[in-house]
Amino acid sequence: MENFDYLIVGAGLFGAVCAHELSKKGKKCIVIDKRNHIGGNIYCDKIEGINVHKYGAHIFHTSNKTIWQYVNQFAEFNNFVNSPMARYKDEIYNLPFNMNTFSRLWGIKTPQEAQKIIEQQRQTHFSENPKNLEEQAINLVGIDVYEKLIKGYTEKQWGRDCKDLPSFIIKRLPLRFTYNNNYFNDIYQGIPIGGYNKIIEQLLSKSVVKLEIDFKEFTKKFKGISYKKIIYTGAIDEFFDYKFGHLEYRTVSFETEVLDTDNYQGCAVVNYTEREIPFTRIIEHKHFEFGSQPKTVISKEYPTEWKPGLEPYYPINDDKNTQLLIKYQNEAKKLDNVYFGGRLGQYKYFDMDKTIESALELTNKIM
Ligand code: UDP
Repeated sequence: MENFDYLIVGAGLFGAVCAHELSKKGKKCIVIDKRNHIGGNIYCDKIEGINVHKYGAHIFHTSNKTIWQYVNQFAEFNNFVNSPMARYKDEIYNLPFNMNTFSRLWGIKTPQEAQKIIEQQRQTHFSENPKNLEEQAINLVGIDVYEKLIKGYTEKQWGRDCKDLPSFIIKRLPLRFTYNNNYFNDIYQGIPIGGYNKIIEQLLSKSVVKLEIDFKEFTKKFKGISYKKIIYTGAIDEFFDYKFGHLEYRTVSFETEVLDTDNYQGCAVVNYTEREIPFTRIIEHKHFEFGSQPKTVISKEYPTEWKPGLEPYYPINDDKNTQLLIKYQNEAKKLDNVYFGGRLGQYKYFDMDKTIESALELTNKIM
């Protein structure tokens, strides 16, 4: 019989931070994952000497100094600043919505001119209490930006009409009247030099890790392993065998290609904001690390509706799913030896810094 204090289900960022913190305090952890690698969705594949963000672009950004110092223990970060471009038909714009975008859209030069145009557009389309993403977006940036840069992209990304989406999704994006193309408002930002795998490997270095094993299979097969508590970072509805029904997700699939050129699109992320192009963005991975390799690797990102068997990516935090989530959370409260965490365990659209914050909160609470 091998005895552990914790079984951690999922070797992604949340699980790995828990494993590290608990091991530091002398707890014995076993970490399992159904994939054949650690790191969850921040895992990088090495192709042509380039770190390829296999499950989509991950750019670390935070305003929490403690979290920034925390990740910097495990890797040095470069000075990458996310400045994606948007392509709409044959026009190209800077993101997020800032003076470069407005100047290209309307041929204007000053913040006063931009504010005046947005103000006029707001007046004709203003909603007193924005109830959905469309109303919120138009209130914020006016109809031109909404139609060219938000509507098509968002409807592809979420597979729903902007009128049926919650407004908080769009609040993630900054709106500025300065010539500043930094996609994030956070104080700290960068990509770990050498890739994310290096961080996860260190976080898991004191734990036993078993890959390619699913939780249910593990509990059946490994009778000789005992553990006192479980930290579960898989989908909460799956844990309860979907007994109240499925929570909904959006999923994304990637079409990755190696190209025989050293620079395909000139930046890491280009969003394709028109509805007619089926993918939402193209990632050119080498630019995250200012790579000078002779070839390049690009990934086209196609969003689709999730169905059982596919990887769940983005929780859909609308009313219907929130009601269902509450039912599962009430079940979870009845279990005193299982903690649910991470994007799937909490069914929450977490950035990486919030994932770490939340893992640290959990380990502090349970220690
Ligand atoms: N969004 C948009 N146009 C863009 C980029 C983003 O309308 O060019 C909207 C879209 O609704 C998206 C949301 O802003 O779901 C949040 O975008 P973000 O880039 O933060 O999404 P993530 O990188 O997490 O997929």
